[in-house]
Amino acid sequence: MTGENHCRIIVIGFSGSGKSAVAPLVAAALGWQWCDTDEDISRLAGKSVPDIFAEDGEARFRELERQVLNSACGRNHVVVSTGGGAAVDPANRAAMHDGGMVVLLEARPETIHARLARGMAQGGAKRPLLEAPDPLQRIRELKEARQLPYATADWTVHTDDLTPEQVAAEVVRGWDYWSKARRPAPGVTGEGARVIAVPAASRAYSVFVGWGILDTLGRRMKQAGLEGGAFVVSDETVSCLYGQRVQAFLEDAGFRTASVSFPAGEQSKSLASVSRICDFLVQQKAERGDTVVALGGGVVGDVAGFAAATFLRGINVIQVPTTLVGMVDSAIGGKTGVDHPQGKNLIGAFHQPSLVLSDVQLLTTLPRRELSAGWAEVVKYGLIMDAQFYALLESRAGSLLSMDADTVVEAVSRSVAFKARIVGEDEKETKGRRTILNFGHTIGHGIEAATGYGAFLHGEAVAVGMVGAAMLSQRMGLAGPEVVSRVRGVLERLSLPVSCPGVSGSQVLNAIKLDKKVKGKAVRWVLLEGIGKAVVRSDVPAEYVSGVLAELEMNA
Ligand code: NAD
Ligand code: MG
Repeated sequence: MTGENHCRIIVIGFSGSGKSAVAPLVAAALGWQWCDTDEDISRLAGKSVPDIFAEDGEARFRELERQVLNSACGRNHVVVSTGGGAAVDPANRAAMHDGGMVVLLEARPETIHARLARGMAQGGAKRPLLEAPDPLQRIRELKEARQLPYATADWTVHTDDLTPEQVAAEVVRGWDYWSKARRPAPGVTGEGARVIAVPAASRAYSVFVGWGILDTLGRRMKQAGLEGGAFVVSDETVSCLYGQRVQAFLEDAGFRTASVSFPAGEQSKSLASVSRICDFLVQQKAERGDTVVALGGGVVGDVAGFAAATFLRGINVIQVPTTLVGMVDSAIGGKTGVDHPQGKNLIGAFHQPSLVLSDVQLLTTLPRRELSAGWAEVVKYGLIMDAQFYALLESRAGSLLSMDADTVVEAVSRSVAFKARIVGEDEKETKGRRTILNFGHTIGHGIEAATGYGAFLHGEAVAVGMVGAAMLSQRMGLAGPEVVSRVRGVLERLSLPVSCPGVSGSQVLNAIKLDKKVKGKAVRWVLLEGIGKAVVRSDVPAEYVSGVLAELEMNA
């Protein structure tokens, strides 16, 4: 085992996921060689794979597979397609990951079943899986059992609706990111990450941002002075994708680890989840010097952060955000908490993390819509704080959407720096500096409330809200029409909504007023005096607001 990076891609996945069809296409596109472990095994044994199984048994097959895979993983400029069970063996996984990129081809059980049946009907090899009494159920069970080993892949392609050529193109795109991540980019420290300091009054800490830096987690925690227990809190989706890897990295660095997770989604942002985490920490005999590792999106960060703030009157927490919202917003600043049936974020505490590690490569598995919603918060930073950054977003929107590694690292780390600056100036929101972060949120919250928190993701509602705030700025004579069209332009290019057709403007207005009544004061609007310059105004005439809301409702 060399630990060096070579030009090597190992393709794993269930039978019928398309491995042996796609691997040669990838090899052709990159100008590399291709090898298939099943073919090599039958060459080595002098008989077909089904014959090895029938005559010598599965154990013999696995032994040959290990041997063949090991030698394939010693080659350079090669694409290796493997058998469906190869990744189950930890030694095989270690060989695959030793310098190569592991790609998982995913497909729904129904797709797999249809493909296997089609292959056999067209005269392909016999598929023992299809001989089970209920083949689809059998595929489901076996796939479920392999989910964890499969989740260790560096890159995943969902193949259901793609042609083999399209899948191959996705693999090549993944290779592009992965190989870039292993090449230090300009402006990046020796350890392959940008470091942004958060100068919060109660505690200063570092945020690390980079592509493919997850494996440095344990080491960075040690450098930050942490030791002992590291308890990973996650939601079930993220835990399946990254939980095992994170625990392995922590253990490698000498931490005692254990993990707990709850169902994904806002409904888990509850006191019940906090209580569950505390039960788990008690059971693990967690002590004052131990650390909670919040691995997930904003929901996990808020819940795990709050549990850490209160357990034993406060233990360490580190944030490992896995969503864009988490990386550019919720993981920084120390706001933690949960929802109450009467309202969002009603219970909470300020509790700054000891460090934040944002591996932007994790965003490649995030659903597209969640990703776009995160970009809305990034656009917000440009609009309220930095015209030059906004111009960068305008010129590179396409690269952001296609997850170009350098562009995404640049955009995320600059957003982190904006948030860090504001937290440094106004940690506990007492000086009003943090108010400008609410840009787009007044109308955004109104839209969320009027639509029952279902139709729009928070970031999508904020996108519409930012257009509305820009329009209000124009009506107030603060900004020209070009500001409104530039706001719309970037949001549209990032696949975000810029209006809310069919959402009643008067309902949105009522929701905004209700919010105002609760707080008992005039609405403080964050408006623009131009791109990059925010102002707070409490003197916006009601008819301006209703006019803008009517326009947003109409503009389809
Ligand atoms: P989220 O945490 O619910 O994550 C969104 C979805 O993506 C979940 O289903 C999750 O399982 C999944 N997911 C996460 N990472 C993934 C990955 N890498 N690959 C695949 N799937 C992944 O939502 P969010 O948008 O990250 O956070 C929203 C929450 O954050 C809200 O509760 C909001 O109030 C809070 N928030 C807090 C602050 C703060 O300062 N504390 C700031 C902004 C938002
Ligand atoms: Mg927000």
